[in-house]
Parts: sequence; C-alpha cells; structure tokens
Amino acid sequence: MKDFDVIIIGAGIAGNSAAFHLSEKSDLRIMIIDKNDISSGASGLNAGHISTTGLGNDPNLQSYLTHGSLEIFKSFQIDRGYDIEFRQSGSIAAIQTEEQYDYALKNVLELRSNGKYAEIISTKEAKSIEPEISDNMHGYIYYPLRGQADPIKATTAFALEAQNLGTHIKVNEAVNKVYSESDGTFVIKTNKNQYTCNKLVIATGAWTNSLLKSLDLDIPIIPVRGQMWSSKSLPPNIFTAISAMQSQYDWNTDSTTDKNNPPELTHKDGKRITRHLYGRQRKNGEIIFGGDRENIGFTEKVDFSGVESNKNHVTELFPFISQIEIEKAWFGFMPFSIDGKPLIGKIPAYNNLFIVSGLASSGFGRGPMAGKYAAEVVLSDHMPSILSEADPSRFDQLN
Ligand SMILES: Cc1cc2nc3c(=O)[nH]c(=O)nc-3n(C[C@H](O)[C@H](O)[C@H](O)COP(=O)(O)OP(=O)(O)OC[C@H]3O[C@@H](n4cnc5c(N)ncnc54)[C@H](O)[C@@H]3O)c2cc1C
Repeated sequence: MKDFDVIIIGAGIAGNSAAFHLSEKSDLRIMIIDKNDISSGASGLNAGHISTTGLGNDPNLQSYLTHGSLEIFKSFQIDRGYDIEFRQSGSIAAIQTEEQYDYALKNVLELRSNGKYAEIISTKEAKSIEPEISDNMHGYIYYPLRGQADPIKATTAFALEAQNLGTHIKVNEAVNKVYSESDGTFVIKTNKNQYTCNKLVIATGAWTNSLLKSLDLDIPIIPVRGQMWSSKSLPPNIFTAISAMQSQYDWNTDSTTDKNNPPELTHKDGKRITRHLYGRQRKNGEIIFGGDRENIGFTEKVDFSGVESNKNHVTELFPFISQIEIEKAWFGFMPFSIDGKPLIGKIPAYNNLFIVSGLASSGFGRGPMAGKYAAEVVLSDHMPSILSEADPSRFDQLN
C-alpha cells in the first residue's frame, strides 16, 4: 500500500485549496508538503486583492476563477468563521490620461454589455468612496464586487480546514526529487523522508519548472519578481482595493510580439515599459502598495528604485502619501506561464500527475477556485471543457 492516495507539493493558496476541496469531497488519504511554512511563497507576500467583475451572461474560465474564488473566500469568513479579513470592499482604478479614459470607457461598456459589474465614475463620486483620492484624475473605474483579504490568514485557513478534514501537513520539508515507478507509483524524496502515493498534485508556484525536471518534464512556468512596500500602521485612509489604468492601457496598446517573455510585465530587457499599481490599507492600518513585475529569475532582492517609483505613482492618486515613510519593502515570485494562462488539470505525460499553477499576478484571487477545479479533476480523472484554456496539454512537451 502507498503511504498516501494523494500528495500535494506546495502549501500556497493553490495547494491548500486543492487539499481542502479534495478532503471535503473524499475519504482519500492526503498529504500536503512544503519546503518552508504554509503560505511562505507568493501566497503570503501578495497584496490581497480579489478581482472580480461577476460571472456575467456568458461566464468563461477567468470569470469562474475570479468570482468563484471570491465566493469561497466569503464562505470562509462568514460561514466557516475564519477571520481572514475578507471584505467585499469594491475597488477603484484611477484613469490618468485622455487615452486611458477612452480605453477605460470601451472596456467598461464591453464588461457591462456582458452583464458584468464596472462603471466609470467622476472624481466627486470617487471622493465619496475614497475621501483622500486625488482631484487631478480624468475619472475612475469603480468595480463594486471586488474585495480583499489577508493573504496569510486566508491561505492558512484553507490549510487548517483541510487538516480538520484529515489532510496531513508537512512543513519545512523540501521535495528534492520525484519519480514514477513502473507500476505508476510516485516516489517523493525530500531532505528528510521518502513517501509514495498514487496521485501527485504539483502546486509549487514559481518553483515548478526545476522540481519537475526530475520527471523529465519542462514545465513552461517562470518566476516573475513582484515587489511591494508598506507604511507603519495609520488611521483608516484607504477603504477599497486601489489600482491604476496606466499598465492595462500600455499592455493593451502594445502591438509588439515577444516570445521570450510572458505578457503583462513592467520591464523588458531591464528597462521599464510601464508603471503598474495595486494596493490597499490593511486592517492593522498599514498601507501597502506594489506594482513591478520583472522576468529576472530568482533575484532575491528588492529594487528600491522600483519601490520609489511606485510610491511616487501612488502619491499621484493619494497626495497624502508624499508625507508617509516606507517602513518595509519585500519581493515575491509570481508563477507566470509563458502564455500568461494558468495550468490546471492533468499532465498527460504521466498517469495520475496533476498541476495547479501558472496563476501569475492574480493567483491569490483565483487560487481558491483553481484548487477546487484541480481537486475535481483529481477525483474524476476528467478534464471539464471549462478548463480547456488552462489545459496543460496545450504545451507539446507535456504530452
Ligand atoms: C508582490 C506580489 C503581489 C501580488 N498581489 C496579488 C494580488 O493582490 N492579488 C492576487 O490575486 N494575486 C497577487 N499576486 C499573485 C499571487 O500571490 C500568486 O499568483 C499566488 O499566490 C500563487 O499561488 P501558488 O500557490 O501557486 O504559489 P505559492 O504561493 O508561491 O506556493 C508555492 C509553494 O510551493 C512551495 N515549494 C516550492 N518548491 C517546493 C519543493 N521543492 N518542495 C516543497 N515545497 C515547495 C513553496 O515553498 C511555496 O510555499 C501577487 C504576487 C506577488 C509576488
């Protein structure tokens, strides 16, 4: 008999959600294992934005991932009683130029014609939601359904709930090698032990490519460094989840093709191509913002010029930020697939090998539902059609 029916490697939001949904829906013997602590990867280092515009008239995978995840976070906060600091606060995106306004208007009209929730609001309307917001914008987009939660508390809640349902959790144990025996058993070798299982779920985020080299697989996921900064605790000043339209406008009007980089980065070949911005005020009063996304491997340091540039951008939206000191800055690695889309489901090269990764820059807000879909595929051994754009088989080398 194998040690476990299912082993999940990686205890971020994706792995913990998969563990929770698997243990909720089955009596399988499940273990989740992480080289560090629960939520020590991108899932514990992000801004905690949950970005949905609703399911709309004709939901696609993106709508199910974002809106489904929001509903799962909500149920953890309200039905299951975990204080994950979830709030359906809504979100505001600043429009800074006329070109951005035209783009934003087109975008909002398209969303609304699909039954989704977004509207252009004036500065006066924005100030009634965010009293400190700048008077100098061309307008704002208001997304009423969007929310926020504390990344570490939320990710840990999934792990605790999975554990309550019988999942074994191992932390501070790094998987060094994975191989498959002739009868299909997976052997997982760590720095401390060796385990066997029937089904293996890979949820190792930005580290996925190197881990799966031992199975002779070249998973097209690369680390993209994101970075953020925070203030000390301050009285409540910012109430919604904040973003700015500049990057979205720049990415959507950029017609150049680039096979070496995933889409939606802020830098190319070491040069800034746009300014991205997201942030909010935590329940403990800290104001947190970030934005940069760079394809520079596992470069484990903060680029302070990028942090400064982000703070200046935030000051354009909230003038009071000019008086605020940066207390902390940090970085994290986002798992970007080369086409920017997630990988959720079966890896066809091996029987009983599954993945939930490539959640890129919005994996906190999409992770709960991505983990739920992964759990459904593990249990049914079937890829539902909604997952076709996330199907790992789209990459030839995984077949
Ligand atoms: C600065 C920043 C801001 C962000 N802001 C947002 C946001 O506001 N909203 C949003 O939706 N998303 C945001 N994201 C993106 C989001 O954080 C990620 O997409 C998401 O957390 C990915 O989750 P994951 O579980 O796939 O990966 P991770 O959370 O990185 O988890 C992978 C886990 O695998 C473990 N692991 C790796 N290799 C091994 C091994 N060999 N053995 C054992 N364990 C291993 C790691 O230790 C890690 O815990 C942000 C990311 C960053 C970095």
